[in-house]
Amino acid sequence: MFALDTILAGHYAPVMGNTLKAIRRGIKAGVNAMQHPHHSRFQAGGQTVVCSHCGNDTFDLIGVAGMSIAGFGIECSKCTHIEYFTSKPCPLG
Ligand SMILES: [Zn+2]
Repeated sequence: MFALDTILAGHYAPVMGNTLKAIRRGIKAGVNAMQHPHHSRFQAGGQTVVCSHCGNDTFDLIGVAGMSIAGFGIECSKCTHIEYFTSKPCPLG
């Protein structure tokens, strides 16, 4: 018997491109339900990452399903804009 939270925690094979958005939404919803939001600052290429939409500088690292296909995504904690990197941004502090 599979525990649903174990499945959602990130053992998807990167073969589900069509349903990626739905999966990511599902993971995110699951994570948000289980944990307090943990906003962090990140650095990439020696620069602190700032949201290109609203200028906020705290982000949440988002689902591993997204990472496996498009790189590493971090979601702005203020406006939810997603910034993608192909190399993992470094969390600060
Ligand atoms: Zn933003």
